[in-house]
Amino acid sequence: MDKNKYNYYLDAHCHYDLLYSDYLMETFKENALKAITCSVDMNSYLRLEEIRKKNIKNIYFAYGLYPDYVLNRKLEETLKDLEKIDFSRALAIGEIGLDYKITKDKNKRLEQKQLLERQLEIAQSLKKPVILHTRYATKPTLEILKNYSKLKVLLHWFTGQEEEKLEALKRGYYLTQKALNKNTIDVNKYKNQILLETDYPIYLNGEKTTPLSIIEVYKQYCREYDLNLEDVKKTMHNNFEKLFLKV
Ligand SMILES: [Zn+2]
Repeated sequence: MDKNKYNYYLDAHCHYDLLYSDYLMETFKENALKAITCSVDMNSYLRLEEIRKKNIKNIYFAYGLYPDYVLNRKLEETLKDLEKIDFSRALAIGEIGLDYKITKDKNKRLEQKQLLERQLEIAQSLKKPVILHTRYATKPTLEILKNYSKLKVLLHWFTGQEEEKLEALKRGYYLTQKALNKNTIDVNKYKNQILLETDYPIYLNGEKTTPLSIIEVYKQYCREYDLNLEDVKKTMHNNFEKLFLKV
C-alpha cells in the first residue's frame, strides 16, 4: 500500500473565505494538508468560488447558507439566494443547520427549518453529504434528519446529550472530535465515524489559529485517546473517502 496516500492532516471543517488564495496556495504546497472549507452566506460563497477557481490542490469546498442567514431578511429572499449557489461545484452541502441560540423567535426558527430542509433536499438530489451546525438545536436537527435517511451526515461540533451522540453514531452519522467525551463515547469503537476539525478561524485553546492548527488538533487527539499518529492519519483518510468521495 502507498503510505503517502494517507500521510496528511485533514481539516474536516473550516472557513477559509477571508484568507488570500496566494497564502493558501503556498501553505498547501508546503504542507501535507487537506481541508474542507464551508460557506455560511452569499459573501463567503462568492469568495470561496474565487479561491476554488485557483485550483489549489487538496482544498475542497462545501456550499450552503447558515441558519443565521434568515435573521435579517425574508425567507423568500433567502430561498432566492439559494438558487444562485452552484452546488454542483461543492464536495458537500454545508455549513447548514439550526441555531436556536441566535434566535428565540418562533417564526425565525421555523424559517431556519425551512431553509435547512430545502438544502437537505438539494443534497439528496445531488447525492452529496451534508455538514451540519446544530447549536442549541441537537434534538430538532436529529428529528428532521429522520426524513432524510439516505443522506451522509457530518455533525460538526455536536454538543448534544450523550444519548443523542450515540443515536447519531448508531444512525451512521459522523462526528468531529469536538463532540467527544472520553468517559462516555468509546473512541475505538466508533473511530470509523470520527473526523477532526479546527473550525478555523475559531480559536484553539484560547489562541489564534491558522490552517496549520489542524496538526495540533491531531496531536491533541492522539494524546487524549492514547492513539498513534500514523494510525489516526490512516483512519481519517479512510473516513474522508467514505464520507465524501464515495457516492
Ligand atoms: Zn463552522
